[in-house]
Amino acid sequence: EKFQEKIDYVFKVVVIGDSAVGKTQILSRFTKNEFCFDSKSTIGVEFQTKTVTINGKLIKAQIWDTAGQERYRAVTSAYYRGALGAMLVYDITKRQTFDHVARWVEELRSHADGSIVIMLIGNKGDLVDQRVVQTEDAVEFAEDQGLFFSETSAFSGENVNSAFLKLLQEINKVV
Ligand code: GDP
Ligand code: MG
Repeated sequence: EKFQEKIDYVFKVVVIGDSAVGKTQILSRFTKNEFCFDSKSTIGVEFQTKTVTINGKLIKAQIWDTAGQERYRAVTSAYYRGALGAMLVYDITKRQTFDHVARWVEELRSHADGSIVIMLIGNKGDLVDQRVVQTEDAVEFAEDQGLFFSETSAFSGENVNSAFLKLLQEINKVV
């Protein structure tokens, strides 16, 4: 007899942010516990899934990755449709990727559901000696905009699971 999981909910989550901030690596760390050194820019793959238990409910996270359409306004509204959560990623070693976060929030507010839960992620936390975006600046921005916030490293895996779990828990509170 084939084992079948009894999924209680499917939560669609989108991963957004500038190119090369580590979106695909964060996703692969969360869903497969892998980091790929020679990752090419994403082609074809639409989403990956991972099933987690939250408050006794089996929740399938269906996490969408951009296929290299990170240029401003190139992500189509179909990508955002039905999304309950978003991981908005910047690179702590690239100032410009943090400067663009406000634009991505605007994108989300105009295309996604008003109740979408947003987690701001400062990735590449392992590259401490190259840091140019200070944690306090990101915390302030996140508080101002009503976003959750975490710093992660897809490379070491630090905080990746906890950030996704926090996002899924917060979605679970509002569905
Ligand atoms: P995307 O364009 O946002 O999907 O970015 P990728 O996931 O393809 O990553 C872009 C580059 O950054 C790749 O060379 C990755 O190996 C590297 N990278 C991603 N995450 C990390 C991280 O946490 N630490 C370090 N040191 N490099 C990372
Ligand atoms: Mg990618």
